Amino acid sequence: MNGHGACEPEPTAHHGHCDWTDERPNAPAARLPDLPDGTHLALAPYEWYPRVGVRGQAELHLWLVDAQPLNTELAWVRGHGLECSWDSSDCDLPWCREILVTIRALHRAAGGA
Ligand SMILES: [Zn+2]
Repeated sequence: MNGHGACEPEPTAHHGHCDWTDERPNAPAARLPDLPDGTHLALAPYEWYPRVGVRGQAELHLWLVDAQPLNTELAWVRGHGLECSWDSSDCDLPWCREILVTIRALHRAAGGA
């Protein structure tokens, strides 16, 4: 709270004075935190989506390879499952999983808030 919390959505105002929503079609994509290759992402079910509009159903662990912002809340993340690091795994792909992850979760993985 910054003492300026009296900003309510107004149904009749299409262009309010408040920037409480950021759903313009051309909203700039968020900046992602700097995550090195191999960052371990431990994601709760509400922090990832197998594809747009479909929520994850279970906790997911992923080794991050690459991340690209989709919008201000979600990013496409490519990586490997934990089992890919096992000796018995023969996964030699650059990446084998692609999911949507909340940018908030990426910041947490980066050691931020
Ligand atoms: Zn893999």
